[in-house]
Amino acid sequence: MATIFTKIILGEIPSYKIAEDERHFAFLDINPIAEGHTLVVPKKEIDYFFDLPDSHLQSTISFAKKVARAIDRSLKPLRTGVIVQGLEVPHAHVHLIPLYTHNQSMSFSNKVDVSEDRMKELAKKIAESLNTD
Ligand code: 5GP
Repeated sequence: MATIFTKIILGEIPSYKIAEDERHFAFLDINPIAEGHTLVVPKKEIDYFFDLPDSHLQSTISFAKKVARAIDRSLKPLRTGVIVQGLEVPHAHVHLIPLYTHNQSMSFSNKVDVSEDRMKELAKKIAESLNTD
């Protein structure tokens, strides 16, 4: 059965999409721990991140870098943190978490409330900052 992320990639489930290329897809996490919390997903359905073939692992990190730079430019956090966890959704993905203060928690217990309108605005802002290097 397709993973929830594959359904998002195929457009069967809506998402706040940020970017896509042949092999990767980026969208806002629906339960963010910071405004602009983004997921970068290789389209290939592989559960464990480190089971990705080297070339795909590398391209996923390069794609994540592009999205992180767009987050940095658009939302102006101190920097963007990275977590690879995969304990909930069995489809490899990278969490990009904008860090706005030095003591900001990266714990997944610290969810923030972000309205639907703000989620739309965040996705748009990040998407518009892609390729503006
Ligand atoms: P992990 O697998 O890395 O432990 O966490 C999976 C992440 O995916 C969680 O942060 C969760 O909020 C996010 N997530 C789960 N289902 C959906 C969904 O349907 N849409 C979006 N945008 N994010 C999801």
